[in-house]
Amino acid sequence: MKLSPAKVHFNDTGTPCSSDYDDLYFSNENGIAETDYVFIQGNNLQDRWLKHQSAHYCIAETGFGTGLNFLYTAFLFDRFLQAHPQHILKNLYFISTEKHPIDIQLLTKILANFDQLENYSAQLLTDYPDNSQGVHRRHISTNICLDLHYGDAKTSLADVKTLQKGLVDAWFLDGFAPSKNPDMWHPKLFQEIARLSKPKATFATFTAAGIVKRGLMEQGFSITKRKGFGRKRDMLVGLFDKPVNLQTLSTKHRTNHAPYFYRHKINDAENDSVKQASSRLTVGIIGNGIAGAITALKLVQLGVSVNIFWRAKQSADGASGSPIGGFYPQLNAQMNTASQIQLQSFYYAHHFYQNLSRIAEFDHAFCGALQVAFNDNTKERLHKISQKQIWPNTVAQYVDPERASKLANIDLPYECLHLPNAGWISPHSMINACLKVAQNTGLLTLFNETELLKINSHHNNVINFEVQHNQSLKTVSHQCNALVFSTGFSSPDFSFPHIPLTLTRGQVELIASKPDLQPLQTLLCHKGYFTPAVNGMHAMGSTYKKEDTSCEVREAETLMNLSLQQGSLCQATWVAKLSDASQDDNSYARASVRCSTPDHQPVVGALPASKQAQELSELYKALPYFRYPIPSVQDNMFLLTGLGSRGLTTAPLMAEILVSQMLGRPLPLNGKLLDALMPNRFLVRNLIRQQRP
Ligand code: SAM
Repeated sequence: MKLSPAKVHFNDTGTPCSSDYDDLYFSNENGIAETDYVFIQGNNLQDRWLKHQSAHYCIAETGFGTGLNFLYTAFLFDRFLQAHPQHILKNLYFISTEKHPIDIQLLTKILANFDQLENYSAQLLTDYPDNSQGVHRRHISTNICLDLHYGDAKTSLADVKTLQKGLVDAWFLDGFAPSKNPDMWHPKLFQEIARLSKPKATFATFTAAGIVKRGLMEQGFSITKRKGFGRKRDMLVGLFDKPVNLQTLSTKHRTNHAPYFYRHKINDAENDSVKQASSRLTVGIIGNGIAGAITALKLVQLGVSVNIFWRAKQSADGASGSPIGGFYPQLNAQMNTASQIQLQSFYYAHHFYQNLSRIAEFDHAFCGALQVAFNDNTKERLHKISQKQIWPNTVAQYVDPERASKLANIDLPYECLHLPNAGWISPHSMINACLKVAQNTGLLTLFNETELLKINSHHNNVINFEVQHNQSLKTVSHQCNALVFSTGFSSPDFSFPHIPLTLTRGQVELIASKPDLQPLQTLLCHKGYFTPAVNGMHAMGSTYKKEDTSCEVREAETLMNLSLQQGSLCQATWVAKLSDASQDDNSYARASVRCSTPDHQPVVGALPASKQAQELSELYKALPYFRYPIPSVQDNMFLLTGLGSRGLTTAPLMAEILVSQMLGRPLPLNGKLLDALMPNRFLVRNLIRQQRP
């Protein structure tokens, strides 16, 4: 769903004001001084950062507005990091909610007034999200992460999953004055603030309204009134020191969410003791495809040591090894859970690849994609998507055949949906870029041609396991604190309990470009896909053969791939040339096996213990959430698999979810979507469907 943008005008002093709420975004006198006084000093942040005993700090805000609070906090946090390079605190997570985002042009104009924050504003504006509801995670630097929860603050916060001990260290309660915006300052908001607060969390707010004071007191905050900023008489600060609500008291069920979909972190990944900080952790990753490499990069960027073990000589030997792959979301005609996962994954992946391209080279182009209406059914579907604006028009926009041909730079006599941020990526080159950046940190070690043999023991949060080198057959023991299985097509070999994985073979053709094909400038998607020429070769795919695990190249499938293009794009003149091109001596095919799930969504999270079936056997009774236990998992073992043929689009967000979960950081997606990715969802669905015995 798209949010309506903020209506903003400027008052006599040039300060932005909301026309809807008739209130100011920040003080007429001095925006930064106000942020500093009300929110930074109000939460005593600089002092608390110094005394903080774990690797990350989490601030949450109501009302992102111009982002001034965030940008100034990011600026101060960087200064803190520079002044205290040895301090355990390394990462800032800033969660903010916004119901009416400010349009980017306007925001650019507003932020241009704050020279001091120029670098931070530039980062924010480079990848500023469009108006779609949901969570938009933005890495402003490796140390500072912004989660923009677009939607109403009450519902957005209610959707945030938290750990048993809470999530938020400090609150910036902004949002327009309660008298002008009573809808936001609602008891439900205060309940969510309490639910998400860590013990001894603090808040600061510019208002001293009774409704705010009482609302927070009722939830267990001690409140203090202070002199307000500038000409304002009072403001409030407070400490979460006596939680009263039963649900917030309970360490077991501190959640609006089903406990059976609880997301476990690495045991003691980041408790309050310095020796357990994430910088001391070692994680073993089994598998070095898209999922494994991105997960490794994310972990080392957060200071975790990583060892990757994989069978082949080179990285990305499986489904991730294709030299060119299409990067685009799957456009369903409904914005259901699957579409939302695709959309959020696509947004995040675009941000991730853009950031990666700033620090490492890899072959890719966001050249846009055209989803071709090649038959009546597809035409109807694409019309529905564009007319009902099911997908944001920043993601997919209807274009007529003339415009489509212009964009493609080749004859394309079809109506299309144009996806300007889609394109192609070389998975192989992207994986190598991730590994190179990760190795530069000194925290990544690679073990190729190495097979996991067995896990010997598992206690005190140390996993002892044995691997064997394929060539020398030498067996070596290793230790790590956690293991991640990003095992792609080998996943079924591990017989993970309760996870039905399926294998599907796919063959892709790499065909030498010809003068008639060369001009193509965008990715074309229909029943299959066809990429622009990359180093003189187009990729054209793909076949799907369920339960077939052979990687041999088959002539019959080359013909199938050819007829897929010729059938779908039969009205385009150049398509006749594909046959010749595929006969070229330089053309070849590549077959690999993809791992997917019955509901076509990835599997991301802790590995369920076999006994979950027993622990959750009463699910069919549909009792209130608090009656169910948090089910057991295999301690410190995690899964990231089932990406199917969509790894380029989904892997960055899935890896971010997994790493955030493992380290107990805020999660970059809302509760319902996270649940749809849980490894135990198949078991849970079966148990709920079960009839009373
Ligand atoms: N913190 C902001 C800054 O640094 O610029 C200023 C915030 S401005 C005073 C208040 C913001 O709260 C506006 O952007 C407004 O759209 C947002 N807002 C108002 N009601 C809201 C609600 N119910 N949920 C989420 N955001 C809301």
